[in-house]
Amino acid sequence: MIQNKQLTTSEKRKAKNEKRKTKNEKRRRDSIIPIKLYNTATKKKQILKPYRANTIRMFVCGPTVYDYAHIGHARTYIAYDMFVRFLRMAGYTVAYIQNITDIDDKIITRAREQKMIPKDLARKFEKEYRADMKNLLVISISRYVRATSKIKEIISQVKRLLEKKYAYFTPDGIYYDVSRFQDYGKLAGRTALSAEDSITRIDESVQKRNKGDFCLWKSAKPQEPKWKSPWGWGRPGWHIEDTAISEHFFGPQYEIHGGAVDLIFPHHQAEIAQMEALSGRKPMVQIWMHTGFLRIGKEKMSKSLGNFTTIRDAMRTVPAHVLRLFIASTLYRSPILFHESMIQQARENWETINSMYNTIRLMHARIAHNTNAKREISRIQQYQKQFRAMLADGFNTPRALAIVFTYIKFIQSLGQSLSQETRAAALEFFTDIDTVFGILQKQKLSAIPRTITNLVAKREQFRNNKQWQQADAVRKQIERAGYCVEDTPSGSRLRKK
Ligand code: AMP
Repeated sequence: MIQNKQLTTSEKRKAKNEKRKTKNEKRRRDSIIPIKLYNTATKKKQILKPYRANTIRMFVCGPTVYDYAHIGHARTYIAYDMFVRFLRMAGYTVAYIQNITDIDDKIITRAREQKMIPKDLARKFEKEYRADMKNLLVISISRYVRATSKIKEIISQVKRLLEKKYAYFTPDGIYYDVSRFQDYGKLAGRTALSAEDSITRIDESVQKRNKGDFCLWKSAKPQEPKWKSPWGWGRPGWHIEDTAISEHFFGPQYEIHGGAVDLIFPHHQAEIAQMEALSGRKPMVQIWMHTGFLRIGKEKMSKSLGNFTTIRDAMRTVPAHVLRLFIASTLYRSPILFHESMIQQARENWETINSMYNTIRLMHARIAHNTNAKREISRIQQYQKQFRAMLADGFNTPRALAIVFTYIKFIQSLGQSLSQETRAAALEFFTDIDTVFGILQKQKLSAIPRTITNLVAKREQFRNNKQWQQADAVRKQIERAGYCVEDTPSGSRLRKK
């Protein structure tokens, strides 16, 4: 009897849990924001459609670890970090993988110069890269995968490509025959057979069938790292590491693949040729995303041009929050110029957003019901909706930021008359801003005494009412307390003297 009762109770609990789960799942599904993205493959914006429930699988090409990462890398990886943060805020579950190229000609050459073992050099710079990402508040990557951790999967892909006659042997290694893949070059709108720049990294064999053929497996050379394969000792080509990793974790078709523009051809094109030939399924990737370059003057910042500033050097003077805002100020697909004046602008904008956030956080809100509260909240929520809509339409961060500034002006116009409810709505919008951009910094509660924030709000109120004399008197009071208020086009800012 007792047993029966226990069973009934647990069954009841189970049913209740199931019901709650279904309800939560439905609520989650209903609250998902549809997202439109520009697809390099179709040259159009299209709706992102998860293949399974609300899960997005995303692969972004990671760094080749032979040196410190520079702020060009920061541009690309911060942009994708913000994008994934947004996807998650929009209700999607995101599996975000980044590969680490830890075997490559550049690594071997640099290790030789530094009299190091290539593996040690690669591990050292991978560690430094991951530390840089942490300092830049890049938190969205689900998993980093080293190329050398997937040799078995790489060999399996090469074997299958040989069996399907997409690959052939040369004395230098195994090559992919691009003439066998009809759409080769389509991603970048060109033909491989005529493309001079299709030869990259380890694809230099003189015994290739076609100019654009690329290496899948390179035969071992003396003093180089090597792995055993059915075709003797060797090491993987560059393009095959990504498809081996993505097939292993995501299968032959998934939602998003990203990198910077330089990877469209031949790297991403080669990935398509490999994976679609292997699986017979198209498209390998639903949406191809490419970030624009971070430039110095007219040139791309790059290790090989030697015109780079490492992330750690930049961060000596530019905090992560400011660097992130600088990057969010330009559409991820467009080039971005790295120049002191742009950083200065980002600094000022950051001050505006962050000080308003803290003013609201630390504000002593009026508990009493404010008759305007309903209207104010509705306006704030409208801005919040527009903010999300801008991000959902091609991940347009500069437009979303423009909404943030309009919203801040509106909050400033409210002066001291914020009700508790208005303040809560305002903070909720700031939570959205920080969830996506990762730019806000909480000032300690003790940092600005409440008496001071109250005075600032009081002064704002006087200014809004054009009571200049009274506003001036309050300013003097603030200054006597050791603070100064600066009036900027976007409102007043408080600093400790
Ligand atoms: P790498 O370490 O050169 O393999 O580059 C890793 C990633 O960073 C690739 O997606 C590159 O396209 C990207 N990248 C390299 N330089 C820049 C730059 N100046 N601006 C934006 N992205 C870059």
